[in-house]
Amino acid sequence: MTQSLTWQTLTQNVPLIGPIYAKKLIKMDIKTVGDLLQHLPFRYENYALVSPIDKIQEGETVTVIGTVETIRNVYTRNHKNFQKLALKDPSGTIEATWFNQPFITKALRPGVKMALAGNATRFGRKLQFESPQYELMRNDQPLLHCGRIVPVYSETAGITSKWLRARIAYLLNHEFIREFLPSSLRSSYKLPGLRQALLDVHFPDTEASVTPAKRRLAFDELFLLQITAQLRRREWNKTTFQQPCSVDMTSLQKFISTLPFGLTEAQKRVVQEIVHDLMSPHPMNRLLQGDVGSGKTVVAAIAMYLIHQNSYQSVLMAPTEILAEQHYRTLTDLLKPQGLQIGLQTGTVKHVSKRNTNPFAVLVGTHALIQNRIDLGKVKFLVIDEQHRFGVRQRAILRAKGITPHVLTMTATPIPRTVALTMHNDLSLSVLDEMPLGRKPVKTWVVPPHKRQAAYAWIDKQLTNSRGGQRAFIICPFIEPSESMQTIRAATQEYDKLKRDVYPHFHLGLLHGKMKSGEKANVLTKFRDGEYQILVATPVVEVGIDIPQATIILIEAADRFGLAQLHQLRGRVGRSNTQSYCLLFASSADTPDIRRLKYLERVSLGAELAIIDLKIRGPGQVFGMEQHGRDNLKIATYSDLDLIETAQREAQRLIDADPDLTQHPLLKERVISGTIKDITPD
Ligand code: ADP
Ligand code: MG
Repeated sequence: MTQSLTWQTLTQNVPLIGPIYAKKLIKMDIKTVGDLLQHLPFRYENYALVSPIDKIQEGETVTVIGTVETIRNVYTRNHKNFQKLALKDPSGTIEATWFNQPFITKALRPGVKMALAGNATRFGRKLQFESPQYELMRNDQPLLHCGRIVPVYSETAGITSKWLRARIAYLLNHEFIREFLPSSLRSSYKLPGLRQALLDVHFPDTEASVTPAKRRLAFDELFLLQITAQLRRREWNKTTFQQPCSVDMTSLQKFISTLPFGLTEAQKRVVQEIVHDLMSPHPMNRLLQGDVGSGKTVVAAIAMYLIHQNSYQSVLMAPTEILAEQHYRTLTDLLKPQGLQIGLQTGTVKHVSKRNTNPFAVLVGTHALIQNRIDLGKVKFLVIDEQHRFGVRQRAILRAKGITPHVLTMTATPIPRTVALTMHNDLSLSVLDEMPLGRKPVKTWVVPPHKRQAAYAWIDKQLTNSRGGQRAFIICPFIEPSESMQTIRAATQEYDKLKRDVYPHFHLGLLHGKMKSGEKANVLTKFRDGEYQILVATPVVEVGIDIPQATIILIEAADRFGLAQLHQLRGRVGRSNTQSYCLLFASSADTPDIRRLKYLERVSLGAELAIIDLKIRGPGQVFGMEQHGRDNLKIATYSDLDLIETAQREAQRLIDADPDLTQHPLLKERVISGTIKDITPD
């Protein structure tokens, strides 16, 4: 059995792991020996100090080794029991107590040689251990749970650290772990060997040896992810084909010159990148990242024009009906003069009826659009606006229908390039890193509580002086992560209060996520047209809404939001050349929170804020990966930008030199086993 142990061996075939435990391990996403070895401790206990019993100090964490003198169960009147043990070494005796662990008295008999490890506490005049670690001494076997730095694992699915330690130690004692990283790579980046790294991360001799070991394993994870992605990309290009678009540059330029503004250099560059993809015989899969207000929509519109010139159709999907309607309007303005017919397909408005052919050059809708039975056979270009998932699912749905269009996902979430390419590493990336000419950064202030009335009065003056030309958003906090009744009640109360006490002379609108989409559209139209001067809203206005007349945004409980999210909210203003303002109120007076918010006063670039956020709050928070289940990293983290970049570069270099991995058979084995796991349904 042990002869045949490999990285890919299923845990149920490992000695010491029966089928019951194998099932429990699967619940922890551990299926193979490799998975088990990569299940890392989240902390360590340092029991390395071994002391004679009479030298133990109060409060010290120590290991003692001795012989069991007595051991017994003690029963209390209320049916509790505890176990009392006396351990003796040449220097003295110490007592240990456990609660409700009667099996201990079976395992530890008087005369047995054993070790105890834990924190020595005072009990009356003597020192003692409460619930210490214990371990029988076996001839010539090193201690695992005492007398060393001991790994502590997260104990889910009813599996204890003690159990895991024994199995992992067993595996590490066998010589099946084979190095798969080229040695040149290891020496360039000072990465320890695989077996050494695993030993050091599970059973370190010193606390200092953990860090390089973890770095090596993190590198493996990122590197393998990149290799897999590169291979997948090659495969995709080998198996999917498109009739390349032909591009009439003169007509494209002519169309661009009809736009109400000149393109920014960044927009020109991104248009080039997309045109290049559309002319290739393979479907594009591109992420367009651009700060709020950088003008992503028009870039998509230009590509749609090109698709139309080639007698194909485009589809644009937005996360909400409001946004779909907004895009419908924008695209109608931009493209209808060129003779393109634009359609809208949402829960409320249906320009195409079920099973009918879609006559529109551009069909705009919500994400449900592609699941409907609308014939999308002539759709060659799919644009997905403002969402985290970057089109993976949509592409899969369409592919199942036999359609592999060019896909452009647009996002304002300022994910660092390296992170984007790791989260979705089969994407190409385009970045709009320039704002349209004349845009002024939004002036931002964190307002202390005692200046609230003054802030209200200031907004009043701004709105009055502009004679209805300007509008203000007032954003109420999300009380809970999703928009609950409580949040809505709070928004409604705030709305009533502002209307009654603060701004009786203005017209106020209210917008929240539980309103029917017709109602929402109605409120937004009134706000856009100036019938409302102030819109009180929950953070549903976060994404995409484009109302250039809105120049002031006041955000309540801003400390509950991440910087990237606040930046998105702030992006609802500053969408014209008029100076815009953002006022932030905090719900707590905590200095770290205020200090974090203060970054918004100084920094106006989303990408920069994202990196700050990443460092302060961690990637799960920043990219919403917790909600989206997007965190596909177990060992490495997205904040480790340097390591991510290194892994990317090295993976690219290796694949370029050896695309089929023939010179790296062990690496190939790891990649293949990882890929198989990837596609196994849960
Ligand atoms: P986002 O990238 O946030 O989706 P939009 O596409 O909604 O931004 O564009 C924001 C606003 O800027 C729109 O009103 C749009 O018409 C305008 N805009 C886009 N590109 C330019 C440009 N090159 N010059 C001036 N205004 C532009
Ligand atoms: Mg947008």
